[in-house]
Amino acid sequence: MEIAKVEPMTTTRALKGPFDYRLPEAMVADGVGVGSLLMVPFSGRRMLGVVVAVAAESELPPERLAEPIEAIEAGATPELVRLGLWVADRYCSTPPRGLALVLPPGSGTGRKPRSMRPLTERTAQITEAGAGALGDGDGEVRLGPRQRAVLERLAADGELSGPRIRELTGADSGVLAALADRGLVERRVREVRRAPRIDTVGAVADAPALSTAQRACADSLIAALDGDGARERLLHGVTGSGKTEVYLAAIEAALERGRSAILLVPEIGLTPQTVGRVAARLGDTVAVLHSGLSEGERFDEWRRLRAGTARVCVGPRSAVFAPVSDLGLIIVDEEHDSSYKQEGDPRYDARAVGRRRASEAGAVYLAGSATPRPESWAELDRLELPDRIDGRPLPPVEVLDMREVPGSAGPMHPVTREALAGLGADEGAKAIVMLNRRGFSPHLSCGSCGAAVTCPNCDVSLVLHRGAAVVGCHHCGHTEPVPKACAECGSVSISRHGAGTERIENLVGELAAPAPVFRLDADTVAGRGGHGRVLSEFERARGGVLVGTQMVAKGHDFPDVSLSVLIDADSTLRYPDFRAEERTFALVSQLAGRSGRGDRGGRVLVQTLAPAAAPIAAAARHDTAGFLAGELERRREFGYPPFSSLLAVELTGPAEPALIAAGERVAAALRPALGPDAELLGPAPRFRRRGRYRRRLLIKSASPERDAAAVRGALADPAVIAALKGVTLAVDVDPQ
Ligand code: ADP
Ligand code: ZN
Ligand code: ZN
Repeated sequence: MEIAKVEPMTTTRALKGPFDYRLPEAMVADGVGVGSLLMVPFSGRRMLGVVVAVAAESELPPERLAEPIEAIEAGATPELVRLGLWVADRYCSTPPRGLALVLPPGSGTGRKPRSMRPLTERTAQITEAGAGALGDGDGEVRLGPRQRAVLERLAADGELSGPRIRELTGADSGVLAALADRGLVERRVREVRRAPRIDTVGAVADAPALSTAQRACADSLIAALDGDGARERLLHGVTGSGKTEVYLAAIEAALERGRSAILLVPEIGLTPQTVGRVAARLGDTVAVLHSGLSEGERFDEWRRLRAGTARVCVGPRSAVFAPVSDLGLIIVDEEHDSSYKQEGDPRYDARAVGRRRASEAGAVYLAGSATPRPESWAELDRLELPDRIDGRPLPPVEVLDMREVPGSAGPMHPVTREALAGLGADEGAKAIVMLNRRGFSPHLSCGSCGAAVTCPNCDVSLVLHRGAAVVGCHHCGHTEPVPKACAECGSVSISRHGAGTERIENLVGELAAPAPVFRLDADTVAGRGGHGRVLSEFERARGGVLVGTQMVAKGHDFPDVSLSVLIDADSTLRYPDFRAEERTFALVSQLAGRSGRGDRGGRVLVQTLAPAAAPIAAAARHDTAGFLAGELERRREFGYPPFSSLLAVELTGPAEPALIAAGERVAAALRPALGPDAELLGPAPRFRRRGRYRRRLLIKSASPERDAAAVRGALADPAVIAALKGVTLAVDVDPQ
């Protein structure tokens, strides 16, 4: 007898699976095993479940064992089931949530399973008899005019679908059926691939000869694929050093060895160039998996990977779960990017999951960046691309001290104004201007009493969006008409403070005229393909300025950009977060990296109130090694990652007193459960958001797996659960 241990795909945290079911012979013969999706009887209902193990016996007596109702489809691989369960455990989530990550797209959940199906169409093709009938001049085989038209079409075009035949000849399925009955055409059902559109415009199919440095990196990775040398690598290559070609060489080597590869990229809408380059080079063996695809496209791409017809998967963080077998290589491009961390449960980090998966599969893990994270710098074996392709220099960075500029002069330094004016006069030149804040003005206040215009649901200012004529909240989405008078004192003198991308767009438009201005931020790219549209408009334009939030700094390769401007380098530095330095350094360096990739040379202007701040000064010198050495020293001193691991417990609730009590209760439960070397900080208040008060506990731990288990245990205590009435709790491992 075979027993399937089945994890029901339910979202209730209280259920402790897996549960045993007896597998009937027929299902065993059909290959039902670890990873299979089953419909099982579960407390009197049908429920979708995943087989997580198969055993010879059960602790339950045979008469209490039920049989599954049906097997749904192939499901995930055993390797992915293990990975999904590891994610659930590591990130303090539940097995069903971990498993949901590795199932085919569109599987649905528990009581609401949905089965995506392959798309099929009925086709017809001409038979030998049909061809004979056409060629028969004596009229022995009688053909109506419709029938003859269909046969002629099929003779010319080969196999065609029913709708296409109708379109071309007007013949409906009745005509086809008659022809099929006479043996003149053959009909069948074929699967139609729903293929995602990949923009390969500008991508070259032929590989350039690698530079000496690229060759050395690629060779080292290929040796690692063959078991020689460290299997966890960091490719530190300055912006424009040609990292993508190294990835491609390593992927090709993996394919030659019969192995597959996964290439993770930050949000796909922002990296169409990388995807295009990989697809242009490797062709149909590339599958893309991301949320911008239709569900059918995603399902078909997933199945191509599962079946092995596609062996390279490119996608954002969720592609780390691509169902490839014989994995040889996982690459994380722009590994510093925060989009690799998932925000919802399970709050996994694709970089950590990738490392785990690669190590389990005996594959090579490669993180690539011009601005690596301190963690990766300290932990991974390093490969270097120290120079730009063709020996182009990195552009000089000028730090502009905004303390010298009176507030009344607006958000731009005179040097910036002059540079933008010069750009307008230089036909064909392009610039990128970044300000990490959207809207027109981030802050409105009353000129008489000083009251700020704030969100009713969150403790933040409402941002003026002049184009849409509203003030809106960037945390909850609340909008209201622009106030004409102060809500506190009725005064009509409302003043605006600061600038967002919308205002910068206007200013740049005036300064850089006649150069066109393109804006790239969450407001201008709503909807599918929005990012790609703006980026390719900018790429195609003869000259112009791209204004936007940090989206504009992400890995784009536009040779005509000769000027990069960062309007407020301090915006990320002001965050009360130990990663503020790292983020600021990455942002300044990445933005600088967009400039000077072509023959026009490059210039970078960085406006700041803190010109001496380490991240800004180091980025201006292009000194990544120096910055990271200092940053790692600081992290060591304060016991931050990689010298500890962080675990956050977040509490939210509609009533503040209950939340404060719950925070104390949770802290009291955690304190004795944690290891002696763990440090518990908080509960600290965070700003109210979406009408909910928030408190956060932070654990600095030297043994994260142990302390994560302790947290899970403490939070499962019935007394703690009772104290959490009306309070929502979330655990975030490695919070960003
Ligand atoms: P990075 O990701 O390191 O910033 P890219 O991979 O975007 O750099 O490469 C920068 C540019 O250099 C691209 O236009 C790419 O096509 C080109 N390039 C890369 N390698 C070579 C090479 N060996 N010979 C010529 N051009 C190259
Ligand atoms: Zn007022
Ligand atoms: Zn709000």
